[in-house]
Amino acid sequence: MRAELPEVVTASSVESWTDEVDVLVIGCGIAGGCAAVEAATHGASVLVLERAAVAGGTTSLAGGHFYLGGGTAVQKATGQEDSAEEMEKYITAVSRDPEPDKIHAYCQDSVEHFDWLESLGFEFERTFFSGKAVIQPETQGLMYTGNEKVWPFCEMAKPAPRGHKVPVPGDTGGANLVIELLVKRLADLGVEIRYETGARNLVVDGAGAVVGVAWKSLSDTGFIRARSVIVAAGGFVMNPEMVDEFVPALAEKPYTLGNTFDDGLGIRLGASVGAGLKHMGEPFVTAPAYPPSILITGMIVNKNGERFVAEDSYHSRTSGFILDQPDAKAWLIVDEAHMERPKMPLIKFVDGWETVEEMESDLGMPQGALVATVKRYNEFAATGEDPDFHKSAEWLAPQDTGPWAAFNMSLGEALYAGFTMGGLATSVDGEVLTGDGDRIPGLYAAGAGAANIAQDAKGYASGTQLGEGSYFGRRAGRHAAESR
Ligand SMILES: Cc1cc2nc3c(=O)[nH]c(=O)nc-3n(C[C@H](O)[C@H](O)[C@H](O)COP(=O)(O)OP(=O)(O)OC[C@H]3O[C@@H](n4cnc5c(N)ncnc54)[C@H](O)[C@@H]3O)c2cc1C
Repeated sequence: MRAELPEVVTASSVESWTDEVDVLVIGCGIAGGCAAVEAATHGASVLVLERAAVAGGTTSLAGGHFYLGGGTAVQKATGQEDSAEEMEKYITAVSRDPEPDKIHAYCQDSVEHFDWLESLGFEFERTFFSGKAVIQPETQGLMYTGNEKVWPFCEMAKPAPRGHKVPVPGDTGGANLVIELLVKRLADLGVEIRYETGARNLVVDGAGAVVGVAWKSLSDTGFIRARSVIVAAGGFVMNPEMVDEFVPALAEKPYTLGNTFDDGLGIRLGASVGAGLKHMGEPFVTAPAYPPSILITGMIVNKNGERFVAEDSYHSRTSGFILDQPDAKAWLIVDEAHMERPKMPLIKFVDGWETVEEMESDLGMPQGALVATVKRYNEFAATGEDPDFHKSAEWLAPQDTGPWAAFNMSLGEALYAGFTMGGLATSVDGEVLTGDGDRIPGLYAAGAGAANIAQDAKGYASGTQLGEGSYFGRRAGRHAAESR
């Protein structure tokens, strides 16, 4: 890594410790909050350091999807059949580098984890939103938030909706409800969250085990001794140097989503003691074409006028394929019968044309290319089958009633947003691993700064980050507590 790594402090050089605890958690977002609750519940003395003046980090911004399945109470109440086995097949199929033990545990324990989340003091609404949206528009508890119904995944695992949304209306900020409940549970458990106090360096003993951290507050510095340190300090989208090095697609144009402290310090702390890194080059990047869902009936073409993706894919999968196109250029084409302007126009309306020939020429596509694509698409749509990209019949509709409209989905034109996916290599229990897969004693990681289920834009399902952050955060907390 080109970015500077924090210096490692040797325990023998530390003259005095301000605190001694079993488990020290760095960061109080979804991963750190869940890790701390679980460690304290399992009998450990726990201290949480939080660099900001409030808990929540990027989690506080999140809409509040948790990817859960295998027969949760919401799935059952709304008649959506699912099993841990189908969920496991699905996540394995969409993962670029599946880690079987983690996926198995995540799916097998998903119902228990759902119950645990609700036991914090809220209920996911027992309702299903059947439309296609980025997030449920209101408080519906469940919807499809991935590529479950998209080919080839629909043939590899029985589709089921698994995007469980907290009962807060709106697109952002819903997950803060869970943060408030975690903070309250930590208070009930007697766990201190020390605000405006950031971990700066890891402290190691002579054998290379992590045994504490150096910290800094607004006015003070010091060292905390801990049997285990859990890094739950978020991702690195706000670190221009790291973004530039690892995910140049995010560096170029998209609007980055995160909080100020997504500066990769947690990842760099891990790297400073030899942690391996995974999926660092993978951004989550997206400019959704929907809502309105009717636009999905159209076709998405590149600058050669060719289709390249099933348009009913999850929005970040579509965006992932757009980034692979020549000059990352793409347009969504619809006819008058399927035209509706998005209320929140993330993709840019270009114009309307009386003929496809004129549109093709104005968009600078090779002569005849778009005309041929529209003709072929309309023939498929009329039969309800798309042998080229296997778009589902539900979203196939002939685009044959002029005039035709184009929306620009190109990188740099549409309003792309993104964050980073990569992080520290970990075991199923959140133990941080070296590049060779060896455990670094005393060090754990979870959340956006650890590599687990959410690995890239093409395979992403909304809810996997809060889902894995909370689940693997809990596992790390439990394991750390039990390793006292
Ligand atoms: C707008 C938006 C919507 C989203 N919606 C969803 C969604 O619905 N579902 C989903 O699964 N994912 C969603 N995501 C992604 C998800 O929110 C994040 O991946 C997740 O919240 C990360 O949790 P975390 O605990 O790892 O990090 P954070 O929540 O960022 O918590 C990390 C904490 O560590 C603190 N910290 C950092 N460095 C230090 C340090 N050195 N010492 C002490 N403290 C430190 C930070 O201040 C922060 O409070 C969304 C993201 C955005 C931006």
